[in-house]
Amino acid sequence: MPCFNKILIANRGEIALRVQRACRELGIKTVAVYSTADVDAKYVKLADEAVCIGPAPPRESYLNIPAIIAAAEVTGAEAIHPGYGFLSENADFAEQVLKSGFAFIGPPPGVIRLMGDKITAKAEMLSKGVPCVPGYAKNLPNDERELLSIARDVGFPVMLKAAGGGGGRGMKVVSREEDLLNDLQITRSEAKLAFGNAEVYLEKFLQNPRHIEIQILADMHGHCIHLGERDCSLQRRHQKIIEETPACVIEPEERERIGKVCTKACKQLGYVGAGTIEFLFENGKFYFIEMNTRIQVEHGVTEAVTGIDLVREQILIASGKELGHSQDDVLLSGHAIQCRINAEDPNSFIPSPGKITNWHAPGGFGVRVDSHVYVNYTVPPNYDSLIGKIIVYGNNREQAISKMQVALSETIVEGINTNISLHRELMSDENFISGDFSINYLENKFM
Ligand code: ADP
Repeated sequence: MPCFNKILIANRGEIALRVQRACRELGIKTVAVYSTADVDAKYVKLADEAVCIGPAPPRESYLNIPAIIAAAEVTGAEAIHPGYGFLSENADFAEQVLKSGFAFIGPPPGVIRLMGDKITAKAEMLSKGVPCVPGYAKNLPNDERELLSIARDVGFPVMLKAAGGGGGRGMKVVSREEDLLNDLQITRSEAKLAFGNAEVYLEKFLQNPRHIEIQILADMHGHCIHLGERDCSLQRRHQKIIEETPACVIEPEERERIGKVCTKACKQLGYVGAGTIEFLFENGKFYFIEMNTRIQVEHGVTEAVTGIDLVREQILIASGKELGHSQDDVLLSGHAIQCRINAEDPNSFIPSPGKITNWHAPGGFGVRVDSHVYVNYTVPPNYDSLIGKIIVYGNNREQAISKMQVALSETIVEGINTNISLHRELMSDENFISGDFSINYLENKFM
């Protein structure tokens, strides 16, 4: 007996296909929802049922809560998987899903709400003994004198951050005292416009950290485990491009220590499902920045080194099952790297939607490609530019890098521009190979 009979996948692109595969492996029927721009998508054709939820603009389709709930009702789905992005971290959506009688494949709405606001998330984590970036975790005052005194206490440079920020937006570094008030006003109005929340807080700007995040899984019965870390330091405009696990800079004892801090905090929070606690890591110390209460784009590298299917676990957890793994069962072996393939110009990073006239995905032992595209598929201009992910797994980092070099050399995408050339360059970059990089490396080197 499958845990659910039918799941509606409230997302698109590669993650819609990823979730669909996990459902099918569990014997669960799937409902795809799609906008008119995605009518020809692979996951729409492969789903047992598909419902058009509106026109191309996300507001009218993938963010259209009544249309999604109605699709679940007419198809008789029992649960909704939100994927990542779109409504995945929208507490109101989770609440409405539950109120309408469906299971939500994610944490309880209250926890999503708490972690979705970076100010309350930080306060919550601090109170649970999780080390945070030093700063002022409250909405900043607009009085210049008060503001300056807060920033001086933290020490310049500081980073202004929108409480409702996400996707690398809503952040501003301030190095000079005289810019502080003006920059705060700019960040506030941008935040209000982009996230509907004008609250802005402040953190010490860390100059050369790595981005290290801890994957956790928690069930409804009080069990919580961690699945090690991912190093996501290679970023552009605070958006990850390459992710790997394990991180070269984390020793096993350190992993266990921070892993325990995270699982303890999640248990206290009443966390359920898959989640990621993100840190900056500098001079041997972890500093919490935020928690993502959903599956992440980079989950596949963790699956490669643990052998645990995170999406399958999410589904089983949401159906009320106990975690199938104890902390002692989680053995990390080998090394995995992911390159995000984006439809964009490799130099200007301007999105490059359009028709893919030729597509050849790499393969071989230890190579996984998660992608929804195919020859003659048209990448719509309305959504994120991610067209696929190449994930490689080797016995060690050196082997994983060689595998990625070969995989990238085999990859052919024609008709649109992609960032594959950037990945090729990075995979033979001396500093990347030696593991010597921080969150600034990519921007400093290539931009
Ligand atoms: P988002 O929710 O938009 O992803 P995060 O808080 O997770 O924002 O931060 C994204 C990235 O921004 C981090 O990986 C890091 O590169 C940079 N960043 C965030 N906070 C700081 C900080 N205090 N100092 C330096 N860089 C930071």
